[in-house]
Amino acid sequence: MFTVGLTGGIGSGKSAAAARFRHHGVNVVDADWAARVVVEPGRPALLAIAEHFGDDILLADGSLDRARLRKLVFDNPAERVWLEQLTHPLIRDEIIASLTASKEIHTAPYAMLESPLLIETSQSELVQRICVVDLPEEMQLARASARDANSAEQIRKIMVAQLSRAERCAKADDILDNSGSLASLEAQVDNIHQQYLEIARHL
Ligand code: ADP
Repeated sequence: MFTVGLTGGIGSGKSAAAARFRHHGVNVVDADWAARVVVEPGRPALLAIAEHFGDDILLADGSLDRARLRKLVFDNPAERVWLEQLTHPLIRDEIIASLTASKEIHTAPYAMLESPLLIETSQSELVQRICVVDLPEEMQLARASARDANSAEQIRKIMVAQLSRAERCAKADDILDNSGSLASLEAQVDNIHQQYLEIARHL
């Protein structure tokens, strides 16, 4: 099935755009969801993480202390690489299963993979087209800070670890400009959805 990748930095508006694509019957698979699933209790990845970082990385109920792990890997590139080598192939398998599993219940003739790390990882191999949600970095920081409990400083660190705005846009086939209102973003999604329907029809 024709699959579009939806990406953008933290707080760019990926979830907002994804909700609108879902409204049109598109099967949007969220890579962040897949990333959470692969480290759930009982999954082999969580065991490997606890062995590597120690049991302090687990909460009292045995689930992963994500805030602690995030802090550890953002302050330590070598640990980040270790974690990514463990989890990225598992996340990829989970995504592939979700992209193919629910074909019957979604009406749109194309699927979508929503991921903040689409371009940075081999997830880009799963899509035929890249749609970037774009906005000025200061606006991105302001929206992400308003949404999350993370400090502006932490969000800045995440932004530095992600691709720059220019690098991301250079890889885009399509760009959704989210510097305006939510209504403006949704109108752009409605428009590009029609284009994706056309592409899917001609494949
Ligand atoms: P992402 O999924 O890329 O991290 P979100 O879709 O969660 O980003 O958007 C980040 C925050 O900004 C959310 O609180 C969202 O409601 C808000 N937001 C998104 N688009 C707009 C917009 N056009 N105008 C105002 N707020 C927006």
